[in-house]
Amino acid sequence: MTMTPTYWRLCSTCKAEIGFQKIYFTCSVSTCNQKRTDLAFCSVSCWDAHLPLAKHREASAIEKRSPSLAQWQHQKDEERRVDDQPSPPVQARQSKTPNSPSAPGMPTVVQMREVSQPHDILVVVSKLKKYIYERSGMNTSDSVMKVLSDHLRTICDEGVRNAAKAGRKTVMDRDFKSFLI
Ligand SMILES: [Zn+2]
Ligand SMILES: [Zn+2]
Repeated sequence: MTMTPTYWRLCSTCKAEIGFQKIYFTCSVSTCNQKRTDLAFCSVSCWDAHLPLAKHREASAIEKRSPSLAQWQHQKDEERRVDDQPSPPVQARQSKTPNSPSAPGMPTVVQMREVSQPHDILVVVSKLKKYIYERSGMNTSDSVMKVLSDHLRTICDEGVRNAAKAGRKTVMDRDFKSFLI
């Protein structure tokens, strides 16, 4: 059987027990609420007692309710889980197999690989020429296809990076936001 705590915390001033789902008080000053200090008081008079030491210019007591035992234990579990799993360094992530699924929202580093045809034409030449002709009556030189394809590759690489940053394995329209007019 694991030990079930009978109270949530001790008052920072009088060390009285503050139970679960009980009213307690914190200080309005941020330095009193940092993880290392994290003061909690059983009453306003106990909050008053910390003032001479703290030398706040302006402060007030904030009434709060302590968590329930279940909430508190859940919170502890969460904290422990975070401690147990330090986020792996970028190096480790890069060496992972390319197909391993990553948790959604986890930023990943994508390794750009060589492609088999780095200068392949990526646009439908006839459609592009038709567009320019209908729009302007102009002809289009074939060399334009290479320039546009290179542009597309650059834009796609950026989209891939943005998708990886968002922890996705699918490049989506939103990954090209910065290129939309
Ligand atoms: Zn107290
Ligand atoms: Zn304070």
